[in-house]
Amino acid sequence: MSLAVSKQSNLFYQSGSRRPLLDKASGIYLWDISGKRYLDGSSGAMVSNIGHSNPNVLAAMQRQMQRATFGYRLHVENEPAEQLASAIAQRMPPKLDRVFFVSGGSEAVESSIKLARQYAIASGQAQRFKIISRFPSYHGSTLGALALTGMSLMSAPFAPMLCDMPKIAAPTTYLDTDNLSEQQRGLRYARLLREEILRQGPETVLAFIMEPVGGASTGALVAPDSYYQEIRRICDEFGVLLIADEVMSGLGRTGRWLAMEHWQVCADIVALSKGFGAGYMPLGAMVARRDLVEAVLGNGGFVHGHTYAGNPLACAAGLAVLEEIERLNLLQAAQQQGARLRAELDGLLHRYPFVGHVRGKGLLLAFELVAERATMEPLPAALNAHTRLVDIAFEKGLIIYSRRTRGGRLGDHFMVCPPLIISDPQIDELMEMLHASLDQFSHEIGMS
Ligand code: PMP
Repeated sequence: MSLAVSKQSNLFYQSGSRRPLLDKASGIYLWDISGKRYLDGSSGAMVSNIGHSNPNVLAAMQRQMQRATFGYRLHVENEPAEQLASAIAQRMPPKLDRVFFVSGGSEAVESSIKLARQYAIASGQAQRFKIISRFPSYHGSTLGALALTGMSLMSAPFAPMLCDMPKIAAPTTYLDTDNLSEQQRGLRYARLLREEILRQGPETVLAFIMEPVGGASTGALVAPDSYYQEIRRICDEFGVLLIADEVMSGLGRTGRWLAMEHWQVCADIVALSKGFGAGYMPLGAMVARRDLVEAVLGNGGFVHGHTYAGNPLACAAGLAVLEEIERLNLLQAAQQQGARLRAELDGLLHRYPFVGHVRGKGLLLAFELVAERATMEPLPAALNAHTRLVDIAFEKGLIIYSRRTRGGRLGDHFMVCPPLIISDPQIDELMEMLHASLDQFSHEIGMS
């Protein structure tokens, strides 16, 4: 007997507007039930890194489903979770070898917050509780992660319910008009952290959290090289933990297992998700320094956990995803195809005066639209460019992901982050649809 389904949907999401019903997905494409095909130019929300319907992942999930799909972690442990924890630890910098599974990015950030806090207590620093983050930034939608998120649109309704955590400006150096070099600007932004730690009282500051390459909040913002090492140095100077939110940038999207590796910086705690389950199962992890975890476990244990954490089916999927990333050489693909797509996106600057900036790392790429490139003045908010261009592209069969970050200096930006398996002809196909979409958009706003 099947459950009855009424014609009137009870399902609801943010805006209430209905989207087409998904029929199937394969490789870099999705199809809706009318048969229309879409190129998944943003891997969903930068999730489907190895593409859709990968047969080896599906087979691994099938095999696990025949054995067990759940066993509660306080009753039984399971092989896929054990194996996946080792596989992840082997791919992280040597100091980061303790893995705590969760089911998504917000949970990974919550876990990181709680581990940091419990470590402070375990190590006799109970006065440390403040976590400095950046503005703009996105760290998740649960109340703890939201308190660290620098996006007023997301947090405003909950303001009275959130802990007030200090924020410093994200390194949007491309908007700066001073005479400094990029590297000098990088240092200047990093030193905002030092100033904030001093302002707060160093003995009260627990951690600093950042997205090494920004996600949707900043549109793939990358800081100058000088920023990363300086941030690490400042955290060490004051005994502040560095948490890297690599929920989006981790596990190959930028061409390395961790984006932080590009700058030879090792965080103390890393949050992972998105490309981990890669759209096959909800999966995330917090990976932490062994000594932090041992201090916490030696002081009564980690007071935190989620029911579905480390479930065998999600971990079997995650293990197969890691194997596919290696078998298909996707770290290298992210670098190579990322460079190719980046060159194509840079070409937009010549073709459209309202494309203001192109940025990113590997296949975590974005472009930003502006009213005038010389001043980087955002397009008028009333144009709703971030939704309009996405809708035009969707019509043409291309999915991209956009945001307009209010309250900051950033305008409408668009993430172009296809699965890492994208081929050369598929990049051409993506660009053809993107050009057609921008042509139509420029016509509509009278800038063609
Ligand atoms: N951190 C970052 C950097 C993210 O990009 C996201 C999701 N966009 C999250 C945390 C939250 O992840 P989730 O939506 O899986 O809870």
